[in-house]
Formats: sequence, C-alpha cells, structure tokens
Amino acid sequence: MRPMELVVQKYGGSSVANADLIRNVAQRICQTSKGGAQVVAVVSAMGDTTEDLIALAKKVAGSPDVRELDLLLSTGELVSSTLLAMAIRSLGHEAISLSGFQAGIRTDSRYGKARISAVETERIKEEMDKGRLVVVAGFQGITEDMDVTTLGRGGSDTTAVALAAALEAQRCEIYTDVDGIYTADPQVVPGARKLERIDYEEMLELASYGAKMHPRSIELGSVYNVPIYVASSFSETSGTLIEKGIASAMEQRVKVTGIPYDRNVARITLRRVPDHPGIAAALFEPLSNEGISVDTIVQNSGSDKLTDLSFTLARTELERALEIVAPVAESVGAEEVTSDATLSKVSIIGSGMQHAPGYASRMFRALAENNINIEMITTSEIRITCIVPESVVHEATRVLHDAFELDQG
Ligand code: ASP
Ligand code: MG
Repeated sequence: MRPMELVVQKYGGSSVANADLIRNVAQRICQTSKGGAQVVAVVSAMGDTTEDLIALAKKVAGSPDVRELDLLLSTGELVSSTLLAMAIRSLGHEAISLSGFQAGIRTDSRYGKARISAVETERIKEEMDKGRLVVVAGFQGITEDMDVTTLGRGGSDTTAVALAAALEAQRCEIYTDVDGIYTADPQVVPGARKLERIDYEEMLELASYGAKMHPRSIELGSVYNVPIYVASSFSETSGTLIEKGIASAMEQRVKVTGIPYDRNVARITLRRVPDHPGIAAALFEPLSNEGISVDTIVQNSGSDKLTDLSFTLARTELERALEIVAPVAESVGAEEVTSDATLSKVSIIGSGMQHAPGYASRMFRALAENNINIEMITTSEIRITCIVPESVVHEATRVLHDAFELDQG
C-alpha cells in the first residue's frame, strides 16, 4: 500500500547547477522521503545549459530546425535527472530517472512550445510501488509520432504541476534560488515583501507579466486544484503557497498584491494604414500562424481615413515578427513600419480591482508625479499594465510599490 502523502518536487536549473548542488538536492529529497512522504522529483537542466545549447545550435545553423532543436534541448534535462538519480542512490535510496517519454508525458507536436495532452502514469506508479524515488526530466514530452518536444522556456514548472495533477499528489513544490513570491522583485525594490499565500488568478497574472514562473503551470494548478508551494532549495526559509482564492475574504481584501515588470517587450507600429475592415485580421493572422503572440494592441483612428496601429510583443520575437509584418504592411498600403525595442512593462495586480475605483488613477498619478511617461495602457479584471521606457522601469516599479504601500503588508 502507498503511504498517505505524495509530493512532486521540482528543482530549477540554478538548484542543480553543479555536482555539490545536485548532492544537496538529493539530500533534500531523501529527507522528505524519510519524513514519510512519497516523492516524485522533476528537474530542469543544470545552470545555463539550455542557453548554451541554443547558442551552439545557432552557431551551426543560424535558425536551427525545430525538431532537431527540441531533441537537442531535451538532453539538458536528461543530464540533470540521471545525475540526480545517481546522487540519490549513492545516499542509499532506490532511485530511477525517467525521460519525459518514459514518464508518459504526451504532447502535441508544436516544437518549442508543445502542450501536454496526457500524462500516462503507469511507469511512474510501477517504480514508486517498487519503493523507488522517481526523477523525471522536466520540460519535455513525446508526440504521437514518437518525436521529442519541449514545452517552452521554463517549462519544467509545467511538467511538475502536470505530474502532480495526474498522480493526484497533495501538492507540487517548486524549489528555486529565491525563497518565494514577492510583492515586487527584491533586487529592484528593497522594501519588497514575501507573500505567504497568493491565489491562482493573481499568480497567473504575476507570472504572465514578469514573475519568473511558467504561466502554464499556474493555469494547470488552478484547473486541477493543485496547491503549488514555491521556496528556496538553498535554505529552510518558508516560501509562498499558491492556492485557490478565499471567496469570503475577497471583498475586504481588494488591494494590490504585486507589481511585476518585464523587460522583454518590443513594439511594432504601422503608420498611416488605410482605415477599412480586414486590416487587423490581415496583420494578426499570419503572426498567430507563426506562433507569435501579440500583447497590447492600440489603434488610433485619424480623421483622414488613415490610422496608426501599434502592438507589443516579446522582444525576443521582434526580428521574426518584422519579417512577417513587412510584406503585410506593404500589401495593405501602410506608409511605414517602425519598431521600438527599448520598452518595458510594469503592472499592478490584485483581485477585485475592477470593482474598486481609484486604482488606475492612483497608478497614473504616481507615475506622472515621477515624470515617467506612459506609452501604452492595458487592463484585465485584476491587472493594469503600463508600457514605459525600459530606462525607467525599475524606478516605475519602486514608485508604484510605494504608492500602493506594499511594504506594509
Ligand atoms: N531548461 C529549460 C529552460 O531553461 C526548462 C526549465 O528550466 O524549466 O528553459
Ligand atoms: Mg534553465
């Protein structure tokens, strides 16, 4: 019979960056196991392995073939998972590493951003029944055609939560080099506070707008109701629990929870486009077909039947996007295409903001008083985002942290 508690523990790249750290993680896993819980571990590639492999691929092939690239990148997690299994065994525990394929992680075939379609848990359960600690290579899966895919940068978080959901684990623990989720980046805002808990909705916005977690892992956690605990692998300090919101407290609790920022922002503008139906479709369809997601879109309708159309996207996709946009712009009769790669975004996030007036004005006032120019604005039910020049995004984050008194808890 299986013990009561099952936890999935994920260790990020910086937590397994060298042999000593891998042994540290092995020890932590063994401790949890000794404490009576069953553990399935998920690991990222060691340190900057993924970056290094991408750079190497670009050196040999400019824009490398996506299938080959995914198979290449998957090796990073094979290295860390096998080493971790060896380290655990050397501490006297039974352990086995499994690739994403062996662990039953099935995905669609969108290389570089594959989505998990199913987790077949038989093998993992078999190994657990033999009393083994299972170490799964994160970030990867297998298509119906038996090709290896990766889930997108940072995707091991999503592997871990998917496994926790499929195995019906009590919770998913994400261990990293920071000791939890903060009201803002503590490197930028000295008064940033660690949150004890946060709900999925807020965390999803935080992760999507700058906090360093794979947003899809939060979505999965929310759908399958898996509590996600984020903490440091380097200390015993308590971390942050991401869980379902507490509805009854909601109305009393309308406040800003966090202020993420993101520097991976660029803007493309089509100037003086003829203003008639179909332009936006002509522009955004080819971008979405190429898997480029567009964020903020602003269209100003001028008086002379011409309009300027601007949108933001990840800066890392700017070059590829410009290649797609240029011919479209020409065919729809735009006067010129310009781009700006010196922007960033800063957001305020909090449940219930939509129905509590005053948040937007307070945000804009604080930025204005500090002479920070807002280039674009977008909102969701629980978020207001301003696009600002990159040179002032740290200052903007500090100003807003102050304006919403987040250092006071
Ligand atoms: N190793 C991959 C990356 O660096 C996946 C991960 O770390 O979660 O993006
Ligand atoms: Mg990494």
